Amino acid sequence: MDFSFSNDQEELRAHLQTLLRTACPPDYAERCDNEAMPPREAYQALAKNGWFGLIVPPEYGGAGGSAMDLAILLEECGYAFEELAMWVFRTITYGGYAVMRDGSPEQKALLLPRVAKGDISVCFAITEPHSGSDAASLKTQATRCDEGYEINGQKVFTSGMDISDYCLLVARTSTHEKKHQGITNFLIDTKLPGIEVKKIKTLGQRAIGTTQVFYNQVKVPESAVLGTVGQGWRSVDAYIWYERLCLSAARTGAATAAFEYALNYAKTRRQFGQPIGSFQAISHQLADMKAALDISRTLVYRFAWLMDQGKATRHDAAVVKLHTGETYKMVADKGLQILGGYGYCMEYPLQRFYRDSRLATIGAGTSEIQRNIIAKGLGL
Ligand SMILES: Cc1cc2nc3c(=O)[nH]c(=O)nc-3n(C[C@H](O)[C@H](O)[C@H](O)COP(=O)(O)OP(=O)(O)OC[C@H]3O[C@@H](n4cnc5c(N)ncnc54)[C@H](O)[C@@H]3O)c2cc1C
Repeated sequence: MDFSFSNDQEELRAHLQTLLRTACPPDYAERCDNEAMPPREAYQALAKNGWFGLIVPPEYGGAGGSAMDLAILLEECGYAFEELAMWVFRTITYGGYAVMRDGSPEQKALLLPRVAKGDISVCFAITEPHSGSDAASLKTQATRCDEGYEINGQKVFTSGMDISDYCLLVARTSTHEKKHQGITNFLIDTKLPGIEVKKIKTLGQRAIGTTQVFYNQVKVPESAVLGTVGQGWRSVDAYIWYERLCLSAARTGAATAAFEYALNYAKTRRQFGQPIGSFQAISHQLADMKAALDISRTLVYRFAWLMDQGKATRHDAAVVKLHTGETYKMVADKGLQILGGYGYCMEYPLQRFYRDSRLATIGAGTSEIQRNIIAKGLGL
């Protein structure tokens, strides 16, 4: 068993770190969060340096990289700024991976070169007001019409809809079958007539955030269908595994940044004539944080490796999502405590990690749902 990164992967990481130190320094991330401003300059810097093409095949202008390479990209973006990583992962997963997996030759030719250049961004809409954890009970309807399909319904929590060019929308094209059947995926233009987007105020993830979207007689051409009509659920499952890798890597990066800040603070903040890190109550917290983070990283790269080998399972996807999400939440919480009153102040960054990390155990499948998947695999 070899746990080392290749020389190319080490180089990849070093390039990214250099780029992100300039394109997305901590004060820029703070400003984006404070002002609810998407990190456009950082997104464009990654685009200019070809990072959106990392997993796109060379014939479409990409580098044909692996899931392991992608995990490195997202861990580093998450370390710099989690909201940047969220934006990057959505475009790469729903504009890149999904199209590579299910796109027609025309969709691939149209979209993959633009994704590779970072010219477009793509978001994902499955959740509805009445279908969250039970995502397959979605009701948004796509009905055949002269122009192709007419979409009616409502989505909630479509993150980045207002800054995306395309949305991968999951809709129902048939109501006569079991809930996992009759589902079709569409890659739609986000600016079509009949689409209304409303921003949702949230605890964290403020730079890009999330939205409520209403679809009222939205006409989409037949060419917007991604994959096979009525059999979209199997694809959704695959996209969500990919999403779990990306999110887990990004959140492990963000958790590492929160940990390093708290560690440095514990070494420099003095009380009772000594650094607070010399009190066992603080040093043991940091030791627990570090041990959990080491496990997160191991799980992320193990899962990426399994994906590259075609050996990843539903269990592996649930374990990595559960552990990395819970670890990020724990690290941000303990980090805030280590900063004492300053952790509670908006001028210090721990509050941002604390707010953002709360989503890690909720979004893209809650921790309870991950535990259900693991338990089901155990025959429970
Ligand atoms: C900021 C943010 C961004 C998001 N971004 C996106 C996005 O871009 N695209 C998108 O489609 N969705 C997105 N989501 C939606 C997200 O994936 C859902 O919120 C999540 O899946 C949970 O669904 P729900 O909120 O409806 O909670 P519910 O499903 O109503 O669950 C409520 C509670 O009940 C528990 N629960 C439910 N069922 C079970 C069960 N069987 N066993 C045990 N416990 C259970 C849950 O774990 C949870 O604690 C986002 C959400 C947020 C908050």
